[in-house]
Amino acid sequence: MSTEPLLKVENLTKHYVGRLSLAQRLAREKPSVVRAVSDVSLEVRKGEILGLIGESGCGKSTLGRAILRLHEPTSGRVTFDGQEVTTLDPMALKDIRRRMQIIFQDPYASLNPRRTVAEIVGLPLKLHDLATSADDLRAKVIAIIERIGLKANQLDRYPHQFSGGQRQRIGIARALISNPDFIVCDEPVSALDVSIQAQIIELLLELKREMGLTYLFISHDISVIGYLADRVAVMYLGEIVEMGPVDAVLSAPRHPYTQSLMSAVPDVDHPGHAQRVRLTGDLPSPLDPPSGCKFHTRCPLAVDRCRSEAPISEDLGGGHRAACHRLHEKLSLLETA
Ligand code: SF4
Repeated sequence: MSTEPLLKVENLTKHYVGRLSLAQRLAREKPSVVRAVSDVSLEVRKGEILGLIGESGCGKSTLGRAILRLHEPTSGRVTFDGQEVTTLDPMALKDIRRRMQIIFQDPYASLNPRRTVAEIVGLPLKLHDLATSADDLRAKVIAIIERIGLKANQLDRYPHQFSGGQRQRIGIARALISNPDFIVCDEPVSALDVSIQAQIIELLLELKREMGLTYLFISHDISVIGYLADRVAVMYLGEIVEMGPVDAVLSAPRHPYTQSLMSAVPDVDHPGHAQRVRLTGDLPSPLDPPSGCKFHTRCPLAVDRCRSEAPISEDLGGGHRAACHRLHEKLSLLETA
């Protein structure tokens, strides 16, 4: 794995501004703002898997889509292989999209039900002008379809004729057929039966090795991230609260939120070793995020300072970073649980 960043994200922010009705406009109401992603900076190195973990609704998918400009960022910068993506015009963006692809979470919703597998998987070749003829296009589709574990005689079927796992294989084929370098894997196994999840994860790992791919792998399942990622970024309410090599972060998490996530993972070697840290309350709304440290409304270690002052991400050595006012007090929810 290279130490060169293939992807660099700097201070990326994505806010969605709500629409006002005429009555609200006349009453001079302010539009609501969903602060989905706030000031996120990270790098993904060539050939690595960066895991992005956090609860559902914390902004992980929005971040993945903002990186690819499927959702236009509000501010910040994304640089891919030395080229700034955030300022590209539509033609240049189309070119770079060949190299930056996404595998969606829901294989039921992400495939057009009125298109055959051949049409779905072949579309990126057409969009990027990567086939010299209809025969060439068909041959390329067959090659990728067979590589992901389907058969050439299934090409003219429709998505509803396949199982969930097979549909996700079709989604993977569609992402890979343009020979990309970087893939956002957006919860690619969470909609699948547990028995199928391992097969899809192994397929993604094999393809990564064969094709020299780099993944941003989004998941809410810390066991999946622990199995496949090289580094991990932990997200809470639109912000990265901890990041570093996966072994360092998962074996010695420093942020209380990461510790609470880790406490939910069964320790097969030491059953009963640590009690689960149950966070009180739900994830706050990104419409009205808490002041100071956004985790303070649920953090068992919160003190007054946490309510007024946002912590700054600190370098803990070895590429491990975390943002918490109490990092140096050697407190751990895992020990006190
Ligand atoms: Fe908890 Fe305070 Fe640290 Fe935030 S800054 S994680 S509220 S102790």
